[in-house]
Amino acid sequence: MSELTARLQQEQDISDEELIVLIEGGDDQEDLKKRADAVRREHYGIEVYTRGLIEFTNYCKNDCYYCGIRRSNTLADRYRLDKETILACCKEGYELGFRTFVLQGGEDGYYTDDRICDIVAAIRAQNPDCAITLSLGEKTKESFQRYYEAGANRYLLRHETADEEHYRMLHPESLSLQKRKQCLWDLKEIGYQIGSGFMVGSPYQKTEYLVEDLRFLQKLSPDMIGIGPYLTHKETPFKDFPNGSMEQTLRMISILRLMFPYALIPATTALGTIHPRGREFGLQAGANVVMPNLSPTGVRKLYQLYENKICTGEEAAECRGCLSRRVASVGYELVVDVGDVKR
Ligand code: SAH
Repeated sequence: MSELTARLQQEQDISDEELIVLIEGGDDQEDLKKRADAVRREHYGIEVYTRGLIEFTNYCKNDCYYCGIRRSNTLADRYRLDKETILACCKEGYELGFRTFVLQGGEDGYYTDDRICDIVAAIRAQNPDCAITLSLGEKTKESFQRYYEAGANRYLLRHETADEEHYRMLHPESLSLQKRKQCLWDLKEIGYQIGSGFMVGSPYQKTEYLVEDLRFLQKLSPDMIGIGPYLTHKETPFKDFPNGSMEQTLRMISILRLMFPYALIPATTALGTIHPRGREFGLQAGANVVMPNLSPTGVRKLYQLYENKICTGEEAAECRGCLSRRVASVGYELVVDVGDVKR
């Protein structure tokens, strides 16, 4: 029986204990997936939105224990993209059918607010009909406000884990969960469409923490929720921890779809990295967004948050074609659309 899944679908109150059973796979898995897919079809049909990801810097002042581009990884080969290169990525992306660009990077002091605003304004002028998403980490509310006024309209900032104790185990003292959460509230207040999320199977994670993640998301009510399996990187303090599990990630995607029927949920690159058909499985489990790489081929390998990242060799055009076929292979359709949330 799948009584819990049915109740989740009907958006009934569900207890923490019941969520634990669902997260740990105690309910009928096929049924969970089927119901999640039915809900995604009700809200988004078979459409899959794309976002062109531009990884514009791998310099980072932070030292998160799980991340391959952490400051202490002296073996990382660092790079930055200049405005012209970023604009060229967007231009190429536009011609390929992308209507959303995501600028993601480490927390890199070289990109002052003036520089970010200059880049955002230039993309806005070049691609007036596109959404501009930033994923630059934590900033002050004033900075977020300036980027918004320059033309950015979405922001991705995963909370990583909503549990204080767990947050401490994943990050150095200089970072705080409270500050990260505050950034999300600030972004929302300014008027951004916001995205949050977390890693599945990160070191020391307990099912209780995943319940806290879901509860936090219920409060925040973000437009986008990005999750992916934790993947190891040998140049981090967590090098001996195992990867997160694909099955649990897929289960979490279905649970998110049932709890947040309207949400934009990507089938992430990390999911595609842990299994060759991971992204397709993600779509079948309830995801409705894919975020292929638009960065210049030369730097893709250098933006290495974890090992064995996929699609580091292909040109953007090949990526779009490949992804479009992959999406179609599981019965969905990659569309040319800015891909706003349908609340
Ligand atoms: N500096 C930005 C972008 C971070 S990279 C910020 O702070 O938001 C984007 C996401 O990749 C992170 O939020 C994290 O959830 C994920 N990530 C980082 N290292 C990872 C790893 N080893 N395995 C899986 N995902 C990882």
